[in-house]
Amino acid sequence: MSEQPAAAFQDLDPELLGDGPSKGLRETTLLSRDARLAGRPKLCSDCGLCDSFLKPEMARTCVFVRNQTEALEQRLFGRHRHDGDELRFGVYRDMQIARMKPPVPGAQWSGMVTTLGARLLERDEVEAVITAATMPGTRFAPRPILARTPDEVRASAGNKPALSPNLALLDEVRASGVKRLAFIGTSCQVHMLRAAQPQLEAELGLKRLDVIGIPCSDNVAYPDLVYFLDQVSKSPQTIVHYEFMQDFSLKMRHEDGHIEQLNFIDFPMDKLDGVFPSACLSCFDYPNSLADITIGYMGAPLSWQWVLARTERGEALLEMLRPDLEFQPASSAGDRRRGMPRYLQMLAKPPGKPPKPIRMLIAWLQRNRGPRGLEFARAIIEMKLFRNLQHVRERFGRFEQRIVPAHVYRALAPYADDYAETFGRPLAPRPTAATERRSGEARADA
Ligand SMILES: Cc1cc2nc3c(=O)[nH]c(=O)nc-3n(C[C@H](O)[C@H](O)[C@H](O)COP(=O)(O)OP(=O)(O)OC[C@H]3O[C@@H](n4cnc5c(N)ncnc54)[C@H](O)[C@@H]3O)c2cc1C
Ligand code: SF4
Ligand code: SF4
Repeated sequence: MSEQPAAAFQDLDPELLGDGPSKGLRETTLLSRDARLAGRPKLCSDCGLCDSFLKPEMARTCVFVRNQTEALEQRLFGRHRHDGDELRFGVYRDMQIARMKPPVPGAQWSGMVTTLGARLLERDEVEAVITAATMPGTRFAPRPILARTPDEVRASAGNKPALSPNLALLDEVRASGVKRLAFIGTSCQVHMLRAAQPQLEAELGLKRLDVIGIPCSDNVAYPDLVYFLDQVSKSPQTIVHYEFMQDFSLKMRHEDGHIEQLNFIDFPMDKLDGVFPSACLSCFDYPNSLADITIGYMGAPLSWQWVLARTERGEALLEMLRPDLEFQPASSAGDRRRGMPRYLQMLAKPPGKPPKPIRMLIAWLQRNRGPRGLEFARAIIEMKLFRNLQHVRERFGRFEQRIVPAHVYRALAPYADDYAETFGRPLAPRPTAATERRSGEARADA
């Protein structure tokens, strides 16, 4: 590996290198970061890789420099996504709706993720687990840790819904000589980790890497999280747990146990502009498709979890949890496709906030007539793919070819006519000089 950081940036488009972090990263999660952030691309989710000995590899691994999903899928699964649900959910061998019986107190949902991480240590399948604990003195600021005991993993239960530089701990992995590692993290972190995996195996002698992925969307830098909670709650200081639910509402549990609920349609969008970092608005892997196993909730009914075992190892990890789980069949209701043309129009021209009675009606319709179960997961993933594609096209158009993976266009193809009508351009990417040159060469060869 090159020890010259400058070498890593040689093949970078100068426009990718901003003179500072993207808006959401002006202030970041842990310490004062100005020096740390120097030289990073404009799009950066603070995954931690650039804080580690792998910083010189940034240009080769970072999803915001070049999205390598297709090549990584080929390496991991030996194939690309099939048409149908895999275009949205990623490659998988098994999908289950399950939950811990009983649920783990303090967990985000039922505690499957931390129970699995702890079990890997209990059984000596791994020597350490990278997970996000809580920064002392805060409720929701993440503190990445290299957990060496099951209790340390269990204590990291619950979301710290802010950007967390988990990959910075690769330095500690190297220093401590860990050869069998489990990693719990978000999709962007998993992309960088998978891209760096051959190097970790060759240079650190890493023999096992179990990747437990959580779905992730619309993450924020910690100061922006504090601001967000100030906007949406009547008592932000007393929130102990919150989640964006499958019934189109944000539910916040307070210290005294009461639940505050805000329907998505009632969000003060005018005050939230700029809260989400450009990186998260340019992210195309909501379901964490390069993990061995993804454990989330969005394809499941309320209080259940949605599990996708993607690799053979992922199936083995699910088996390890099975004795503690209860299951129910996957279900699906509603038709997301009917609402998508209207969603595209709203993306193109955001409407003002409707009056309260109309908002109440919309919330009722979303809850009772909207997509549910797997159809909810399909709907929300497609909506985020569209929103993020538009963000890239409007703000970082020149990077589209590098940072938007090919499956996005395949997943959204059923709406290509609606897209063209609404945005006055095709859904398919515009040919670049390079692609035109290549197809010209191919024609000449033929
Ligand atoms: C910002 C964010 C957005 C999410 N959005 C969705 C979504 O839209 N749909 C969906 O299905 N699931 C989403 N999830 C995942 C979901 O909320 C749960 O974390 C997941 O279902 C696991 O629940 P659990 O009870 O099994 O986890 P627990 O056993 O409670 O363990 C939670 C695990 O999450 C890890 N973690 C917490 N915060 C972070 C962080 N900031 N970065 C990296 N790792 C972290 C901890 O290390 C811990 O291991 C999101 C998670 C985050 C952090
Ligand atoms: S996202 Fe990660 S790899 Fe990419 S620039 Fe930021 S810290 Fe580095
Ligand atoms: S939304 Fe995407 S880029 Fe942002 S933290 Fe989550 S996985 Fe990373």
